[in-house]
Amino acid sequence: MTHSENVHAHEIHKFGSQAERWWDTQGEFKTLHAVNPLRIQFIRAYADIAGKRVVDVGCGGGILSEGLARAGGEVLGIDLSPELLDVADLHGLESGVKVDYRKISAEALADEQAASFDVVTCMEMLEHVPDPVSVIQACAKLVKPGGKVFFSTLNRHPKAWLLAIAAAEHVLRMIPKGTHDYKTFIKPSELSSWARATGLELLGIEGVSYNPLTQQFALGKDVDVNYLAAFLRPEA
Ligand code: SAH
Repeated sequence: MTHSENVHAHEIHKFGSQAERWWDTQGEFKTLHAVNPLRIQFIRAYADIAGKRVVDVGCGGGILSEGLARAGGEVLGIDLSPELLDVADLHGLESGVKVDYRKISAEALADEQAASFDVVTCMEMLEHVPDPVSVIQACAKLVKPGGKVFFSTLNRHPKAWLLAIAAAEHVLRMIPKGTHDYKTFIKPSELSSWARATGLELLGIEGVSYNPLTQQFALGKDVDVNYLAAFLRPEA
């Protein structure tokens, strides 16, 4: 079965065209760099990473993948952008952090390697695909019974439009214009009910908020803009 249709070519092209600036911590993707330690902290609060098989779905240039590998994970990063996968590979050579990267969709990998990973991560990716439910199903299929699945995305809440699009893209220029489309944002209730329908059990949700005065991100209870969610695939 092929699932190659669950992709927006313009999204892959948009991210791929920015590939060479992916690791510039002061560049267009500085937000991903800034939130990365918080994402790793959130994941480690629910899952032991050391020595575990991890797949990072929609890994881009490998910011999260390398963080997970530094935490001791045996990490496979997958994405559909060849440019980003090249950047990820090259960065790994420079940093000496070992991650395997592969150009394959979550759905195709799930057909190939069902129930093979202790930890599945899929961050800032669901809002860029035509059918996020299909990616969630693939993640639920990739994880072993007893394993954990982590998602992060943007909430379809007016505050997310104001802060993640109007402020972050247009006023503060924290992320490239046109990165996000409000219609594709996902409410925490939607994410958790889609995940529940695949048999995943919600463990916890935390919000990521930004303080423009200190220019710092923090985890907290406010899930109105950007949030992280942890799920368990129960033992059969
Ligand atoms: N998860 C990374 C990158 C987020 S940017 C991080 O948080 O650091 C969104 C990524 O999703 C881009 O790398 C883009 O190429 C990828 N992407 C978009 N649609 C995809 C699809 N259908 N399958 C796999 N990756 C996809």
